[in-house]
Amino acid sequence: HHARKVNQHAQVYHDALQVNSVERLNLINDLKTAIAEQQLVLFYQPKVSLNSKKVTHVEALVRWQHPTLGMLPPDEFIYIAEQTGQIDALTQCVFLMAVEQFTRWRDNNIHVNVAVNISAENLKNPDFFSFVSNTVDNHNVAPHCITLEVTESVFVEDTEQAIALLLKFKQKGFKLSIDDYGTGYSSLAQLKQLPVHELKIDKSFVHNLTKSEDDQIIVRSTIELAHNMGLCVVAEGIEDLPSLQWLTQHGCDLAQGFYISRPVPAQSFEAWLCSTSDYGRASAPSDDVMS
Ligand code: C2E
Ligand code: MG
Ligand code: MG
Ligand code: MG
Repeated sequence: HHARKVNQHAQVYHDALQVNSVERLNLINDLKTAIAEQQLVLFYQPKVSLNSKKVTHVEALVRWQHPTLGMLPPDEFIYIAEQTGQIDALTQCVFLMAVEQFTRWRDNNIHVNVAVNISAENLKNPDFFSFVSNTVDNHNVAPHCITLEVTESVFVEDTEQAIALLLKFKQKGFKLSIDDYGTGYSSLAQLKQLPVHELKIDKSFVHNLTKSEDDQIIVRSTIELAHNMGLCVVAEGIEDLPSLQWLTQHGCDLAQGFYISRPVPAQSFEAWLCSTSDYGRASAPSDDVMS
């Protein structure tokens, strides 16, 4: 099943960039330089509270500003980092940038918590916890201001080791989120064991919400499940107003999607935050070159 996953990625990569294997090899080497020479940049996408209509969190999403290929989306290089032993360096780089951005916002009176995506590979590294933990301590950032998003599939393989590590993060005070919920086939028994605060319903169930009765059933029961387990529930991939309204009516806690804002550079996020009085009406500057 792993081999199939790799092939899927390779296919996506090939379609996107039309590269041959030599160029792919270059990209592997380039990634080392990218991490060292700060070619990785973070874009930010708000998560808004459907109750207060305020932006409470913002998710950091990495992009690679490649010197010749232009801006590359994460789906084109995260798997390379994972397969070539560079994912720890990449995640550390991303985490540090996100924490630094959090402190800049905090110092400028912009109070949003920041979410960072963590790869399953990171949870296999025993030094990962101390890096993350030391980074927040050194920046005087309270761990509860940082959410770690981990995809649901993490809990299907290596469950015990992953849970043990996530428990350490929880005890330190970090918020934990299950990303892409509904796509990873975790069982309810597993879900019950997880030390998480938040379920993030995968965008495949959300983007077509008001046109699909099946998706409505899935989303409604996931909201109920999350709430019954004491978890906060987030819908990602909201692309239109009717879906946003539907989610509000059905008690979803947080919302994220292109309808509210695309992922944008930090400065554009700040400008959007200042200009928007109602997240449903304002649109973010469309400078996400990948979307
Ligand atoms: P994710 O964490 O589930 O992030 C959501 C993805 O959906 C983002 O794509 C975002 O731009 C996109 N999205 C948000 N709203 C909408 C919408 O309304 N409609 C549609 N169609 N898409 C929407 P992006 O930025 O390309 O990231 C893709 C994935 O790459 C992320 O999925 C995450 O799993 C991974 N990723 C991103 N940044 C990092 C990182 O720093 N580290 C690691 N390990 N993975 C990352
Ligand atoms: Mg995420
Ligand atoms: Mg997701
Ligand atoms: Mg995803």
